[in-house]
Amino acid sequence: MSYESKMLRQLAMPTRKDVEQALLRALLKHDGTIKEFGSGEGIVDEIAGEFQLSEDQRSAFLETIYRKQNRVKKAFLWHRLLFRAADSLAKEHMVSRPTRTLEITRKREWMLTEKGFDEALKLCNISTATKECLPTKSYEVQKIVKSLIESRKPENYDPFDRDKKIVKTAREVALRDRAFRQAVIKAYTYRCSVCGLKLKSPDSLLWEVEAAHIVPHYFLGRDDVCNGIALCHLHHWAFDVGWFTVLDDYRVQVSPQISRLPADCGKLEGFEFFRVLQRGHVKLCLPERGEIYPHHNAIRWHRENVFHQQRL
Ligand SMILES: [Zn+2]
Repeated sequence: MSYESKMLRQLAMPTRKDVEQALLRALLKHDGTIKEFGSGEGIVDEIAGEFQLSEDQRSAFLETIYRKQNRVKKAFLWHRLLFRAADSLAKEHMVSRPTRTLEITRKREWMLTEKGFDEALKLCNISTATKECLPTKSYEVQKIVKSLIESRKPENYDPFDRDKKIVKTAREVALRDRAFRQAVIKAYTYRCSVCGLKLKSPDSLLWEVEAAHIVPHYFLGRDDVCNGIALCHLHHWAFDVGWFTVLDDYRVQVSPQISRLPADCGKLEGFEFFRVLQRGHVKLCLPERGEIYPHHNAIRWHRENVFHQQRL
């Protein structure tokens, strides 16, 4: 039995399998990523707390003697156990290693893969049906998010993906859907671009804000950030049914139909939810990079095909 195994046994440390499961649960709780296990990192104490580790268990260290260099290296046993569990998850393709994650997020973090995401949902008794709405990051989806967020503005953008149904597999479409949603809400800093609402569910799992397609999926609208806007549920609905649209200078324009709206409609506790947009000076809150602003070809299509321009 190795020196490390002996110490693990003597101190009655949790098994590696138990730590692997705790890591998967923690990854799900932290939106799919956790930092490397350095001293002072919150995650190290958080998982130790879950196992109710004593002070002795947390502070025990291993000594490795490097004779040639004439020095002794000390490593916390608990950090080593966390690393070995994460390393084992990486070998099973459940997480991506910090060196690989660094390439896409510029952060040294362990990140769930799609396989690890499914396993974490199972461990937490969360239905895989909700997977599509969760903001949890996975390595495969973040690779697409990176390409969407960093994409350059195309000269002649065609918001219609005419080959979509022929070329892509169902899995590719599902990953791309999630990447679109995550890229858009991230680009708009998790706020509705019209009213600025930013809100999470009480369990911190879901953002209220949604990624709206400007040219919708059923018209073969592309999953590009420049064919999307982050909108709260109410503004998403109002945009999809044509209550308002966006002008080329990104001001919001409300349908003239509003003049026929009964006085008791479109209000929230007396607050004029729609009429406040009518004055023509509400401008979308936009992403930091102009390259991914809503494309004029997409918003023009919305103005001409969805927006109710005429009084009926
Ligand atoms: Zn809103």
